[in-house]
Amino acid sequence: MKQDSPLFDLELETRSVPVLVPVPTERPYSYAVPAGMRVEPGSIVQVPLGPRQVAGIVWDQDSGFVDPKKLRPITHVFDCPPIDHGLRRLVDWISSYTLSAPGMVARMLLRAPEAFDPLPWTEGLRHAGTEPDRMTAARARVLDLAVDGMAWTRSGLAHAAGVSLSVVDGLRAQGVFEEVMIPPRPVVAEPDPGFAVPELNQEQRAAADTLRAQANADVFSVTVIDGVTGSGKTEVYFEAVAAVIEQGKQVLILLPEIALTQAFLERFHDRFGAKPAEWHSDLPPKMRERVWRQVAEGTVRVVAGARSALFLPFNNLGLIIVDEEHDPAYKQEDRVYYHARDMAVVRGHISNFPVVLASATPSIETQVNAQQGRYQRIPLPQRFAEAALPDIRAIDMRKAPPARGGFLSPALLGAMKATLARGEQSLLFLNRRGYAPLTLCRSCGHRFQCPDCSSWLVEHRFRGQLVCHHCGHNERRPDSCPECGTLDHLVACGPGVERIAEEVVQHFPDARTIVLSSDILGGVKRLRLELDAIAKGEADIVVGTQLVAKGHNFPNMTLVGVVDADLGLANGDPRAAERTFQLLNQVTGRAGRTGKESHGLLQTYQPDHPVMRALVSGDADAFYEREIAERERAMLPPFGRLAGIIVSAATRAEAESYARALRRAAPPSTEIDVLGPAEAPLALIGGRHRFRLLLQGARRSDMQSYIRNLISAGPKVHGSVRVQVDIDPQSFL
Ligand code: ADP
Ligand code: ZN
Repeated sequence: MKQDSPLFDLELETRSVPVLVPVPTERPYSYAVPAGMRVEPGSIVQVPLGPRQVAGIVWDQDSGFVDPKKLRPITHVFDCPPIDHGLRRLVDWISSYTLSAPGMVARMLLRAPEAFDPLPWTEGLRHAGTEPDRMTAARARVLDLAVDGMAWTRSGLAHAAGVSLSVVDGLRAQGVFEEVMIPPRPVVAEPDPGFAVPELNQEQRAAADTLRAQANADVFSVTVIDGVTGSGKTEVYFEAVAAVIEQGKQVLILLPEIALTQAFLERFHDRFGAKPAEWHSDLPPKMRERVWRQVAEGTVRVVAGARSALFLPFNNLGLIIVDEEHDPAYKQEDRVYYHARDMAVVRGHISNFPVVLASATPSIETQVNAQQGRYQRIPLPQRFAEAALPDIRAIDMRKAPPARGGFLSPALLGAMKATLARGEQSLLFLNRRGYAPLTLCRSCGHRFQCPDCSSWLVEHRFRGQLVCHHCGHNERRPDSCPECGTLDHLVACGPGVERIAEEVVQHFPDARTIVLSSDILGGVKRLRLELDAIAKGEADIVVGTQLVAKGHNFPNMTLVGVVDADLGLANGDPRAAERTFQLLNQVTGRAGRTGKESHGLLQTYQPDHPVMRALVSGDADAFYEREIAERERAMLPPFGRLAGIIVSAATRAEAESYARALRRAAPPSTEIDVLGPAEAPLALIGGRHRFRLLLQGARRSDMQSYIRNLISAGPKVHGSVRVQVDIDPQSFL
């Protein structure tokens, strides 16, 4: 049977179709197709489910013959282009790879229900060619705008002409305007691939030619652009975007922090004369609907979005770019645990188009894929034009510690002073929100802990609160210890960005200092304004978390100080060194993007750690080689496979006994080891107690089948117990 033909038609005898509904079911349910209704695979339909009506997607194979007379009928077919074959196969693929119910994966496609029917047209006015009885200045302004016959909304026309609505209404009453319906406005204009074609240097040209050739070949491929920060990776992959737009196809650009990437949208606009459509969780609902609908209809050509953009209803996708492909934000750890970079590659494979991964510090998985020839690698080892990479040094905190009570070493303070004196900007990076990560009582030693999580409460002095960063629990910071009652004996231990800013102000009272973290009041909008202000030079010293590390261009920033370079190293995660290297490389890469001499200073107690050495020497290759060899020796990904099974329950005893029972049920295997259960490092989150099993297997082992068997051999999930599978875990907490 041909894949995309209207399978379920009036003429067919079996008048039932499978419909995937957004609930945790293992398979689509069958529904009857009422006489006269036309549906095909991918159609979005409304069906009864228990007492409710839900939206679902008509799926491909029926699960077997069911007598349609016994089935409930489809209630309604939405007037919407069907979900494309490639996206349907992606749902199946993700479901079987991540061991999530297909309905829960499909749910991610169905998040804009208002857009399933065409967007409404709005009422408008058009000049009918007649003249008003009497001309006034206000009327003349209105007619000036409308005389070319374009349709306007009533308020839009009044606003543009700078007149009150009554002027427009007066003209309409005289028949000067006729009423027309205006189709929904496109969310973005059509991008023009020839709008501002850059002059690429030789290296960039070669890279762009390769990408263009791939885009034109119209077959699956994966290409890694491995280029230092500022080498022009974006400029280069825009050429592939241009090629695909020329072919009339759609493009998806995935970005890890889309809510902050105003700068990216503007750059795209400079190159293509129009912005891409944005897609992320902060989009207002009406905008979400319009983007979703216009992607489905094909009028939106390019989307720049967060990982969930993978589930937009593209019908003609020809390229996916994954920018900063190493970024941990691509892994979703909520309901369906999937990695958007890997799923982008799967999507390209299914629908036969190229995928481009860009990074200054590609993940080890991607590097090994390139070494073994599965991915093609294009290096861009130099910064564009005269911009030079910053000179990086380690500050040995054992030898030159900060003054008592402080966190900034004399060497770092000295460099900041010199930078200020040159009228340039400094960035102090610390990946910790708030004022202090721990508060304790000096009298009895009491530590403030979240009642629902195994984590310390973080002091946010600005808000006067103690906050749990896992569940959001917050309480007022008391004046006396709740344990022993002693007054004024609480101390803040360790620094967060707020505390570093306080220290900065003590040292440089006249400098303009800004603190940036996701706690900023006013949300994303405010953050964008602040980032803009920094780029324009309206701050001297910026203290920030990783929010400032990503993708921003601050032309006058010439010093980056890392307050605690060791922070991410000691957490027992097999990727700790790699992650720290990637993050610090990205942060220090904020310096010196316009050719001024620039510096990166790393405050560390382990200046001989391979990560520090790699950053200081700039020899990433040696670092990666070692890390890759180490992974291979330990049979860790990508040389072996990992999976986590997280058992949680309302009580510790319940979670532990279920996890142990599951462990005992593990079938014997020569290829897969089951480790644990162990209490999770975050033993309690949101009031749920957690235990983890870790499965480690050979590269070719069938982890999914093994886990399926394990779970069905285990005891029935009962009471408050929940079991979550995490294939290729990125977090072990
Ligand atoms: P990356 O993505 O590798 O960090 P970008 O593409 O952001 O690098 O380029 C860094 C800076 O250099 C940007 O401001 C970009 O506009 C500029 N740039 C890079 N290549 C060119 C070029 N060929 N012509 C003009 N400007 C360029
Ligand atoms: Zn909590």
